[in-house]
Amino acid sequence: MSKLLIVGTVAFDAIETPFGKTDKILGGAATYIGLSASNFNIQSGIVSVVGGDFPEEYLTMLNNKNVDTEGIEIVKEGKTFFWSGKYHNDMNSRDTLITELNVLEHFNPVVPQKFKNSEIVLLGNLHPLVQNAVLEQMETKPKLVVLDTMNFWMDIALPELIEVIKKVDVITINDEEARQLSGEYSLRVAARKIQEMGPKYVVIKKGEHGALLFNDDQVFFAPALPLEEVFDPTGAGDTFAGGFAGYLAKTKDISFENMKNAVVYGSNLASFCVEKFGTERMQTITKEEIYDRLEQFKELTQYEMSISN
Ligand code: AMP
Repeated sequence: MSKLLIVGTVAFDAIETPFGKTDKILGGAATYIGLSASNFNIQSGIVSVVGGDFPEEYLTMLNNKNVDTEGIEIVKEGKTFFWSGKYHNDMNSRDTLITELNVLEHFNPVVPQKFKNSEIVLLGNLHPLVQNAVLEQMETKPKLVVLDTMNFWMDIALPELIEVIKKVDVITINDEEARQLSGEYSLRVAARKIQEMGPKYVVIKKGEHGALLFNDDQVFFAPALPLEEVFDPTGAGDTFAGGFAGYLAKTKDISFENMKNAVVYGSNLASFCVEKFGTERMQTITKEEIYDRLEQFKELTQYEMSISN
């Protein structure tokens, strides 16, 4: 069975959207990635850190989904990473209101022995030095390293981020962040510039407008499924990344052609994530629902085009 090693935040989030507001609920990049990847028959494990305030039941919930949490350190006297965000009316953009690093500030990640030979490593959103420290502990070279990040780290740790970017095969990033990282408006030019920084493949996520996959001169586009209900986009990007990497780990094929499928699987899972607040929807998703929606994706995107003069 393929192994997927995940690093990222395990967090408390407080979210405000035009449809409502939550107090501190379960969140974090690695939480969404783990839940998303749990839909594939793979062995996945999270490396992260939480404080003594983090409920044990959340770890049990991840374990019940077959996500290994041995690599989640618990700092008893510390507080869990906290993020708060408010979405604008179109739900495509948001403002970060609070980011409290707490236990993340002095975190030295330790990769459990059994994950040091993982075929795929997903460096989810957190400090680039932590992402790098995880990569350095791998005992065998992973077949694929995927990196996801956000503007927060570009603002406060750009040189460190650039060092990790050099070492990865795929970067998944949203359109605004791709523009910030490359200094280019055109996403095509931005992707080329980011490829020159290291990754062979660049995935640019455009929220409800789908995702683009770039590799040299090849481009692939997958739309997002137009949904009737969107309550909370939080974690959609991480869920996408977890689905992308989970699918590649399951199929053991890292060709560009197969990455197209991975983009669709990632988009498919992200479409569930946004239907309820926080991780709620990702905790209840079933295989039947996933397959049903994949059929909808197929219907949405496939047609015979006739070109005539
Ligand atoms: P997304 O909506 O995919 O960008 O992911 C949102 C998740 O990322 C939330 O659950 C937050 O806890 C987490 N998050 C927010 N800011 C950061 C940050 N600076 N580093 C790592 N994770 C973060």
